[in-house]
Amino acid sequence: MRMLSARDIVLAWEAGQGKHPVDRALLLLALALPEIAPATLNAWTVGQRNAQLLALRQQTLGAVMPCFVHCPQCDELLEFTLDSEALLRLVPEDADPADQMHTLTLDTCTVYFRLPDSRDLAAVASSADADEARQILMARLIGEARDGDRALAVADLPEAVMPALAEAIAERDPLAGPEFTLNCPACQHSWRAVFDIVSFFWTEIEAQAKRLLGEVHTLARIYGWHEAEILALSSARRQFYLEMIS
Ligand SMILES: [Zn+2]
Repeated sequence: MRMLSARDIVLAWEAGQGKHPVDRALLLLALALPEIAPATLNAWTVGQRNAQLLALRQQTLGAVMPCFVHCPQCDELLEFTLDSEALLRLVPEDADPADQMHTLTLDTCTVYFRLPDSRDLAAVASSADADEARQILMARLIGEARDGDRALAVADLPEAVMPALAEAIAERDPLAGPEFTLNCPACQHSWRAVFDIVSFFWTEIEAQAKRLLGEVHTLARIYGWHEAEILALSSARRQFYLEMIS
């Protein structure tokens, strides 16, 4: 895995305009891992994909991720940092291959399922609501379901299967949607939040790309250099020239 260059960041930002987060994630990984075929990137579990995005973010911008969120109860602004190294330690050493089937047993029901990947996320992207998305996802992930000896259709599964399945997926693929507890110092409210690495990293990519294009604009105007030349300069050299003309 290589870090994203200034040129990569601008390219990713441009190509990702108006795209779905699933596509933005794959776009960033394709730039950083050109040797891996798109079909392989698509078939990584969501947690495996997120681990690679975290590693890429760490290579490009460092391990410390500054976050802020508003308390849902009193709107107080909470600022904190997450550490990508700590998150990456959640990945089990013996991570399962993406196509492996897993077993979930609940009372007399047995469900055979696989972990979701980017193709599954893309399949539910245009769902009308969360309920429809859940139904589509269940149908894709569940290979077989039985109640004792009787085969069960996904639609006939007991309601308790869905939350149990979500829990089983989180346990086997912890970075698919890492959760953590937040406590508001103003009103003492405490809640669980999910860290969305794609949206977090993309917001940074947008800000970085706009900053870089601003620098291109300033340097091109003064020195007449081309965009590609300016983006190919090291950050230190770009900053030096910018200071010279400020
Ligand atoms: Zn609060």
